[in-house]
Amino acid sequence: MSDPISGRGELEQVLDLAAREARAYLDGLEAEPVQPPGSEATVEALDSPLPETGDGAIEPLRELARLGSETATRSSGPRFFHFVIGGTTPAALGADWLASAFDQNVGAWVASPLGSRLEAIALDWLRQLFELPEEFRGVLVTGGTMANFVCLAAARDWCSARLGDSAAERGLAAIPQIPVLSSGYVHASAVKSLALLGVGKANVRRLGRDPAGRLDLDALDAELAALDGRPAIVIASAGEVNAGDFDPIADMAELAERRGAWLHVDGAFGLFARLSPRTAQLTAGVERASSASSDGHKWLNVPHDCGFAFVRERDWIRDSYAESADYLPPVDGPHPNFAYRAPEGSRRARALAVWATLRAYGREGYRQMVERHLDLAQYLARRIDREPKFERLAEVPLNIVCFRLRPPGVAEELLDELNRALGEALLEDGRVFAGTTLFEGKVAFRPAIVNWQTRESDVDLLVDVLLELSDRL
Ligand SMILES: *Cc1c(COP(=O)(O)O)cnc(C)c1O
Repeated sequence: MSDPISGRGELEQVLDLAAREARAYLDGLEAEPVQPPGSEATVEALDSPLPETGDGAIEPLRELARLGSETATRSSGPRFFHFVIGGTTPAALGADWLASAFDQNVGAWVASPLGSRLEAIALDWLRQLFELPEEFRGVLVTGGTMANFVCLAAARDWCSARLGDSAAERGLAAIPQIPVLSSGYVHASAVKSLALLGVGKANVRRLGRDPAGRLDLDALDAELAALDGRPAIVIASAGEVNAGDFDPIADMAELAERRGAWLHVDGAFGLFARLSPRTAQLTAGVERASSASSDGHKWLNVPHDCGFAFVRERDWIRDSYAESADYLPPVDGPHPNFAYRAPEGSRRARALAVWATLRAYGREGYRQMVERHLDLAQYLARRIDREPKFERLAEVPLNIVCFRLRPPGVAEELLDELNRALGEALLEDGRVFAGTTLFEGKVAFRPAIVNWQTRESDVDLLVDVLLELSDRL
């Protein structure tokens, strides 16, 4: 088979095959290991020359289905506690399939009024879900990294405007370096964004007061005071990745307001703490921020990739991106053209999955899910506390439990190596996934609970497998 037009008749069979295989894969998520045994070797051995002539759509799809079944990482399943990766709710998955089928380009209103309108609605629903003030304007992007990027671009442009210039127009060479202040919790993706934005990674001052990186608020105040009115960017973390801890956002908002700085809140998963009265106070002050970001493919449980950027003053989200051309729509019109709010020009209709899942489960459904995860995190913490071999290293304010293996009688100097080995053994074993980190300089586990399907039995399996593997070390 050559020209795709000659394969038009395969479409129905392709869709049936995809649905059937997807169902089989998803049915297996409950029971199969996160990483099927031997799968990495199979993947590494994959190779084949570029076909000169194709053999039609059915064969490659069958092969993909087989490869997925044999080797795909079940990161969307209930026993994946590594990083912070959510699954996909049924509503989000169905809507995402339709997004591919409709294949809308949500760069310009004229290219997809449907996608543009649903994005505007989805963003407003998210704004309400996170209880952000009405003036916040948002945009859907590919994830937390790009959400940080969009917000920090706005921060950069705001700083340059305060200096009487425009970084978007004239570049950064025209202005003095922009100071960036944070605690030790600042996420790698915010630092990476600052590199991309020309602000510079080394320009970030991490004002930690202890080995965990908790903010030294007095140092922040002193640093801001020393700037004497020069603009700066302050980054707060709502949910850091080691233990799910929060910066004191309200205090930081107070300082930023008093000293004239832009406060950005990175809430990739932690912004969801606002959904439950049990944890909402952790995020107090977010409503006073200049910008806030969060992730869709984490706690919202929509498919990759999806993130949200919110900026309080609309102009700052638009200035960098509002670049029209003769063949493009004008920047200011009655309808939103999302390419003028986002780094991308052509854009996937991510809103369909966000809209559908919020419509399907509502604020109440998401509150219940978040609270179930909060309960599971406390349950895991209690199990860790009961096991004499484990040592919990941090409080559990949200959905991450930070702990390490510490068998009685093993010297402190050996614990890092032991925990690293256990971490590798866990991933090698593949039944359940969790990763390691450095917490206060100690190698530690940091399972994060964000998957809509996770239950107590999955958490039990994590502890049981860790105990079993540790016996063999
Ligand atoms: C995951 C995460 C990010 C980056 O998000 P991606 O979706 O991976 O790009 C940023 N900040 C925090 C706190 C995160 O947990």
